[in-house]
Amino acid sequence: MIKIKQMTLYRLRMPLRTPFLNWREQVKEKDLYICELVDQDGVTGYGESVAFDSPWYTEETTETVHYIAKTYLKQLLKEPFLHPSEFIERANVIKRNHMAKAMVEGALWDIFAKRLEMPLYQVLGGKNPKVNVGVAIGMKQTDDETLDAIGQAEKDGYKRIKLKVSKKNDLRLIKKIRTKFPMMPLMMDANGAYTIHDIEHVKKFDHYNLLMIEQPFHPEDFVDHKYLQEQLHTPVCLDESIHTIQDVRTAIALESCRIISVKLGRVGGFRNALTIHDLCQKHQIGLWTGGMLEAGIGRAQSLALATLPGFTYPADQAGADRYWEKDILSEEIIAENGMITLPQRPGIGYEVDKAAIAYYQIDREIVKV
Ligand SMILES: [Mg+2]
Repeated sequence: MIKIKQMTLYRLRMPLRTPFLNWREQVKEKDLYICELVDQDGVTGYGESVAFDSPWYTEETTETVHYIAKTYLKQLLKEPFLHPSEFIERANVIKRNHMAKAMVEGALWDIFAKRLEMPLYQVLGGKNPKVNVGVAIGMKQTDDETLDAIGQAEKDGYKRIKLKVSKKNDLRLIKKIRTKFPMMPLMMDANGAYTIHDIEHVKKFDHYNLLMIEQPFHPEDFVDHKYLQEQLHTPVCLDESIHTIQDVRTAIALESCRIISVKLGRVGGFRNALTIHDLCQKHQIGLWTGGMLEAGIGRAQSLALATLPGFTYPADQAGADRYWEKDILSEEIIAENGMITLPQRPGIGYEVDKAAIAYYQIDREIVKV
C-alpha cells in the first residue's frame, strides 16, 4: 500500500543547448515542473510535466499543469493506493489535463517500482532494457545546417532522423537529404502544417522512402487523415491527434494512420499508454515514444515505456547531451551507437541530482496532501 504524505512541486527553467524550431514555434528553454511525492515510509518518486510554456502543442501549459496539480490532483492522493493504475481511475473526474495527470501519476509509478525493488520498465512489462533511439532535428536557417546536423547524428550512430518540415522547405530539403543520405531511415514531422488541399503535394513524399509522415493535418482531422492515408503509400503517423484511447479507436476504425506516436504526457500517463499499447498491438498499428524536449525524469520514463514490445520504431528520446549542458540526473542518459541501455536500479533507475534541481529552480512549493 502507498500512502502519500507530501507533494513538492519544483519549477525549473532549463535553457536548451540549441533552440528548437518547428513551423510555428521556437523553443529556447524549458519551463517545467517536477513533482516529488513521498510516501509513508519515506520512499520518494518523481514525475515531470512535459508541457511547454505556451499552448502551441496542446492546450496545456506549464501554468495550467501547476494549477491543476496543486488544486485538484492533490485531492486524489488522500486515499492510499494499492496500485498506481488507481490514480487515473480517480483522475477521470477531471477532464483532460493529461500532462498534469501524467506528471503526478509518473511519481506514483516510480514509488511503486521502488517499493517492489524493480526497474520501472520491468514493472510496466518491458523485457529488454536496450532502446533504439533516433534524433529529432528542428528547422535550421539553411539547408546546409540541416545536412550537417544529419551527418553528425549519423556519425553518432543514431538509428533514424526525424525532421521538422513546413510547406516552404519540405520537398527541396528531402531531395537534398536523399541525395546525400540515400539509406538513412528518415521521417518528417509536419505538426499539422498541411491541409487536405495540399494532398497532391504531400503525395510527392512517396518518392523518398520515408518511414512515415507525422501529423500532416490538423489534430482533429481524423477524416482528412483517412483520405490522405488511402492515397499515400508512406505511413501516416498521428501525434497531436492522439490524447485518449477513444482517439486511438477512432483512428483505427477510420484507418486514419498506420503508426502512432505515444507521448506519456499527452495521453495522461502510463496506465493510458499501456492500454493504447495493447490496443495498437492488436490492430497492427506501429508505435514509438515521441519526445517533448524532456528533462531527465521525463526522458527516463518515456524510455521505460519504449521497452514494451509494441514500440517497434526508434524512440525520440536521444541522449540528454543533445538537449542540456547539464541534466537533472546524477548519471547522464547516454546513447551509444543509437541505443540507450536502461539501468537495472529500482524505479526510473536514475538518481535525481538535487544540486541540479536547485540550480535550475525558480520556485518550490510544498503542497499539503
Ligand atoms: Mg510530432
